[in-house]
Amino acid sequence: MKQKITYLGRVYWSLKSLLTGMKVTLKEFFTPKVTEQYPENRKTLKISERHRARLIMPHDEEGNNLCIACGLCQNACPNGSIRITTKNIVDEESGKSKKTLVSYEYDLGCCMFCQLCVNACPKGAIKFSNDFENAVFDRSKLVQKLNK
Ligand code: SF4
Ligand code: SF4
Repeated sequence: MKQKITYLGRVYWSLKSLLTGMKVTLKEFFTPKVTEQYPENRKTLKISERHRARLIMPHDEEGNNLCIACGLCQNACPNGSIRITTKNIVDEESGKSKKTLVSYEYDLGCCMFCQLCVNACPKGAIKFSNDFENAVFDRSKLVQKLNK
């Protein structure tokens, strides 16, 4: 049989519920705020190293990269965000034909930042930068040539 709650009982449970809610509100009121004042704090803003903002191909001081034009990254990409153009050149020392990279095109506009391309690369030639300010007015500018 259902127990009847008295008027005072209802007042008690209502107050208890209200105070429980207010306890959470008060706790959050005194917790330090973490809202980023972007873009005013652009100079001091720290983005996590792990953040995947844009694919890049690092080059050394002489402008060389580690890419061997194997195409594994292009094959690993699920949505065709990478397009590699290669050509065969004859190595002067060995006389053998060798595939070299002509153009490495990356479409930031359709990349979904899965990192499958980076994981597939046997040479560590590509990686993600955390440089996140990549907005442009023209979508065609999102297609970037990564090799110099
Ligand atoms: S992160 Fe994923 S979607 Fe973007 S280029 Fe690499 S494989 Fe393609
Ligand atoms: S970036 Fe890496 S996986 Fe892609 S073609 Fe170059 S060496 Fe191969």
